[in-house]
Amino acid sequence: MKFVPLEKWPGFNNDTYVIAGPCSAESREQVLQTAEEISKLPQKIKIFRAGIWKPRTRPNSFEGVGEAGLPWMEEVKEKYGFLTTCEVANARHVEAALKHNIDILWIGARTTANPFSVQEIADRLRGIDIPVMVKNPMSPDIALWIGAMERLHVVGINKIAAIHRGFSVDGKSKYRNRPLWRLPIELKRRHPELPIICDPSHIAGNRDLLQSVCQKALDVDIDGLMIETHINPDVALSDAAQQVTPANLGEMLSTLDKKSTFCSDKQFEEELEELRAQIDRVDSELIEALAARMKIATEIGKAKSAAHVTPLQMNRMSDLMDRRTKFAKSLGLSENYIQELYQIIHSESVKIQTELQEDLKKNS
Ligand code: PEP
Ligand code: MN
Repeated sequence: MKFVPLEKWPGFNNDTYVIAGPCSAESREQVLQTAEEISKLPQKIKIFRAGIWKPRTRPNSFEGVGEAGLPWMEEVKEKYGFLTTCEVANARHVEAALKHNIDILWIGARTTANPFSVQEIADRLRGIDIPVMVKNPMSPDIALWIGAMERLHVVGINKIAAIHRGFSVDGKSKYRNRPLWRLPIELKRRHPELPIICDPSHIAGNRDLLQSVCQKALDVDIDGLMIETHINPDVALSDAAQQVTPANLGEMLSTLDKKSTFCSDKQFEEELEELRAQIDRVDSELIEALAARMKIATEIGKAKSAAHVTPLQMNRMSDLMDRRTKFAKSLGLSENYIQELYQIIHSESVKIQTELQEDLKKNS
């Protein structure tokens, strides 16, 4: 796939990389007042967002004002010179958004997970030159995310961006949607040209975490930010806890440090090269250790098979997790990190042992 870099999209350049606006358009006054305050910020934000149709987890929540909100978005363009963006979830939404001159569309997390809906949107967009941003699906499935972008790409959309909005996964977390940064990083590795925007609001779920998520996004070289901003967040009809006022947005943005991805300083480059050589050596040792571990796991698998016992033994797994976590913590590693890592390492051993038992059975 070929992608147009974000600096070449309308509304973005190297210094202007933020999309702001409320979670939902609620009333004409709320939309226009929010837009007016955002337009006064020194960061010169050029793109205004608002959800018109809201996909809610449970019925009887506020489901958006619908098409009635689109003329307010047109007013925002006229009065404050913003470009506008809203979520679309089906062909009817696309139709209405185009009729009201929405400049950029986005596909929401729940819709990205549904190939029928994405295809319907793509079919409606064939031959139309409009930028589309695709949020990650709720589950950490990178193929589903890429698949949605491919459906848009084949109908001729050439301005496509991915939006990282965090993932709904098991386990307790301080985030509303866990960021799992390795996924957007992997996406960037596979498609270096694809613009990636972070939506820290839906990752954080509350205002207090917003700044740190934004900084982290910039630190992993994310190209842009989409931040929910409301004239009076406390009374917002959706996502109240995570929205900020335009003034807070301006203050927060001024604290962010947008670093460069390279530095031509010779001494810095030499130092980095030396440290990277050390990391390369440690990584080789790690992989050799993993291979050695797997060899032993295979031997254990053979012994279990001979003794007719299951590859997965829960008490052994719990004991292993406890002891590894304690040891790792004593070396300054975080509990979460080591547990996620060991889940992968241990489940691969169980998988290999299960396959081994199947093979042994077939050949017996
Ligand atoms: C939103 O941006 O308001 C929204 C509904 O987001 P998501 O699809 O990421 O939940
Ligand atoms: Mn929202």
